[in-house]
Amino acid sequence: MSFAPPPLRRRQFLTSTAATTIASAASAAALQTAKAATATPTPTPTAAQLRTMVPTLSKAAVGYIDMPHDGDVCGACIWFKPPSPGTTISHCHLVAGPISAAGWCQAWMRRS
Ligand code: SF4
Repeated sequence: MSFAPPPLRRRQFLTSTAATTIASAASAAALQTAKAATATPTPTPTAAQLRTMVPTLSKAAVGYIDMPHDGDVCGACIWFKPPSPGTTISHCHLVAGPISAAGWCQAWMRRS
């Protein structure tokens, strides 16, 4: 008695091949998007532009968390607003409400 694997049916073969092809295409598209994003730097806002900005995004909309993410923190982000003199509460030019200098969100951009 032998234990040879059952033959692959035509439908199984076509389904697995199509899934692999779709996954490869999706990965390639995601990589292209990431490369395009890094190849086109976002212009750094000027101090005057930052002063006129009104934060409108909710913390939930940008996935804000009260902790660092991969070593990145709000305090090193171009949108970060340090506490006003005499206060300890930080804010953001994009995200409404108080934030932590040690927090992070998906809109994070390194301050140069
Ligand atoms: S990481 Fe997000 S919440 Fe923090 S300063 Fe930057 S934009 Fe604002």
